[in-house]
Amino acid sequence: MDVKIGLECHAQLLTKSKLFCSCSTDYHNAEPNTHVCATCLGLPGALPVVNKRAIRYAIKIALALGCEVQEETIFYRKNYYYPDLPRGFQITQYDFPIAFNGLVRIESDRGDGSKEREIRITRVHMEEDPGRLAYKGTIDTAKYSLVDYNRSGMPLVEIVTEPDLKSPKEARMFLGKLRSILEYLDVFDGDLEGAMRVDANISIEGGDRAEVKNISSYKGVERALLFEITRQKNLLRRGLNVRLETRHYDEVRGITLSMRTKEFEHDYRYFPEPDLVPICISDSVEAVRQEIPELPDEKRKRFLAQYSITPEHASSLIYDPHIADYYEAVASKIDPRLSATWIADVLKGELNYRSSSMREASKRIPHDEFVTILRYLEQGVITERGATAIIRAMLDKGGKPGEIIESEGLPTIGLEEMEKAIFEVTEKNRGTVEDYRGGKKAALNFLVGQVMEHTRGTADPKEVRRMLLDKIESGV
Ligand code: ADP
Ligand code: ZN
Ligand code: MG
Repeated sequence: MDVKIGLECHAQLLTKSKLFCSCSTDYHNAEPNTHVCATCLGLPGALPVVNKRAIRYAIKIALALGCEVQEETIFYRKNYYYPDLPRGFQITQYDFPIAFNGLVRIESDRGDGSKEREIRITRVHMEEDPGRLAYKGTIDTAKYSLVDYNRSGMPLVEIVTEPDLKSPKEARMFLGKLRSILEYLDVFDGDLEGAMRVDANISIEGGDRAEVKNISSYKGVERALLFEITRQKNLLRRGLNVRLETRHYDEVRGITLSMRTKEFEHDYRYFPEPDLVPICISDSVEAVRQEIPELPDEKRKRFLAQYSITPEHASSLIYDPHIADYYEAVASKIDPRLSATWIADVLKGELNYRSSSMREASKRIPHDEFVTILRYLEQGVITERGATAIIRAMLDKGGKPGEIIESEGLPTIGLEEMEKAIFEVTEKNRGTVEDYRGGKKAALNFLVGQVMEHTRGTADPKEVRRMLLDKIESGV
């Protein structure tokens, strides 16, 4: 089936103040309507002043997405009335946005054996966030709405894609990749509530598109699109056309509902914002370019080459820049492949389970202590089960690896126990020991196997081999 999906992604920028006033953007835990002033409340006569840092961040994003940054950018008024927009217009951009024509790569099957698809970015522009309406229950059952203007005037960057995405799963992958890039740039924090909101456009079999507005979670986008495919398919089956309309996603019920017929550009009576001058941006582009760090695609390539890890591990480790940095700190001190397994497979799993971020976790397990855990594991002081138990204990209660081993009596194999097993095995297999001394090197493998059996697989084979050799070659 022919599915076309295009996304309009609104990302809140991590500036200290709002886009056109000096109100603090740190409102996420504040009481409603406490981070407001005349400008962001839209009182008559209040004038906007552009936040320079927000412009720099938008340029940074445009460059990282491979866009052509424009010479000059102009803000426009988009006129419409809604209770979350008290001025009656939103300051946004129109035909002079920050940038056009970018590209984002996602790891999705192209159908010809390649696992990389390119999604074209139409444009990147800036706008202010409106306030937030709150409903008791859901939008279509609530008796009244409440409004909070703390969010009003928050700096947003809107990233619009071409309709290049072919499935709800690809849409979700794209959003994951976009989040990753924005976090690398240090201009966005995806953990903040409502930091990314998406309008998802979808059409099937060349029909008209439906636009599902304002979805605030990545999973929500995927679910809303899956619902839309089913709904649109059913319409076609009954010989009906999909209407060009704007729909709302009901997160609780996992369905989309019709809100209104799709508006047209001329409905908004766009015109240049007379209270702001055009902004020349070409002068700052080179300076901003210097601030762009290594991005996910490059980092992935480097990880593969530098650490010889699997492609799956590389993808998993680069997604969150904090995890990538943590991995590199650990891998610089101990086997990079062992580090990859324990960070990508074990630590990330434990973080997901706890809905915890790497930033929080690295306070509980600093990277040098993670190295200590892996070192104990390599030396056979602890088993894999023991290492996992230490990681869990440290995430939940804090503490240090050594202390936890002592206080919790983990399933470890101590040195004494190892020596005992080696003694017993060499005593019982004197003949094999002599074979080895006589030049039959393969005899050692048998002895290692015996010790492993003795310790029920809890010892580290490399360590067993080393200790066996010590003993046999010292002639005892
Ligand atoms: P509007 O603001 O009116 O929705 P935009 O041009 O800003 O218009 O956004 C259009 C979005 O819809 C883009 O993300 C684009 O990729 C997507 N889109 C356009 N045509 C289709 C289509 N036939 N099927 C799915 N998505 C589409
Ligand atoms: Zn304000
Ligand atoms: Mg739209």
